[in-house]
Amino acid sequence: MITKKIALAGAAGRMGTACREALAGADDLELVACIDRVTGASPADPVATQAPWYDSATEALAKTHPDVMVDFTAPASVEANIRTALAAGVDCVVGTTGLSAATLEALAKEIPEGTCLFVAPNFAIGAVLLMQLAARAARWMPDVEIIELHHNQKKDAPSGTAIRTAELIAEAREKAGATALGAPGSESELAGYPGARGARSADIVVHSVRLPGLVAHEEVIFGAPGQTLTLRHDSLDRVSFMPGVLAACRAVTERSGLIVGLENLIEL
Ligand code: NAD
Repeated sequence: MITKKIALAGAAGRMGTACREALAGADDLELVACIDRVTGASPADPVATQAPWYDSATEALAKTHPDVMVDFTAPASVEANIRTALAAGVDCVVGTTGLSAATLEALAKEIPEGTCLFVAPNFAIGAVLLMQLAARAARWMPDVEIIELHHNQKKDAPSGTAIRTAELIAEAREKAGATALGAPGSESELAGYPGARGARSADIVVHSVRLPGLVAHEEVIFGAPGQTLTLRHDSLDRVSFMPGVLAACRAVTERSGLIVGLENLIEL
């Protein structure tokens, strides 16, 4: 069995900790570097990690020569980490949200031959299925709004999943020539209540809820005369993202270029 070497950026964070736990249970993937500004290697760390800790991707990649760098850091850090990995010819599996389409386009130009930059707005298989079902439903029920709900530590809004869902819905509507009946937008908001009608992503209304106790949830509500359809996915635990992360680590070394969305990397 060929073992792939993995460097993990954001290793001390919530997703990083879940990844360390998942990687520890995967025989064909070896965690060779934990990258974080803070070290998780303390007695309080929930996952015992044998791999060394580094505070920068540059040093970690130079010393450990991984096949893949997984990034679950922060919107402000991810772009620089990806640049470092691509410059070293290391395949990237990116879960960090907040990368704009323009940034991704610029990064795509920096991908060396044979190297892959894979970005997943959501690694949970259920969420990917929800996005596909939403695109399918939008052909027949083009009036739709998205509610995304996350824990109160989330740094970006709307969520990457909501942005991706809106893009897929908009693409499907356009392809099918389906026209929404429409609804009032921000012009209908009462004075003093900005945002009451949500934000717009790909011309679809997205409402962001942030509350302690939540993990990552999305509801897509379709409306048509006399009927509604609600699709909902709930990530109740970060373990929900791990099969997707491990599958991406395995698949990414066989691919090249920019790939967005788990459905474009593995067969679902
Ligand atoms: P978190 O704040 O718990 O962890 C982030 C970690 O990254 C922290 O330990 C921080 O010290 C570290 N970090 C920040 N900048 C760094 C840098 N330059 N170098 C090294 N380490 C750095 O956050 P989280 O809840 O684990 O989420 C991380 C990201 O993953 C967020 O963008 C979140 O939206 C995203 N996310 C994506 C998915 C998905 O399926 N794609 C699922 C959940 C979360």
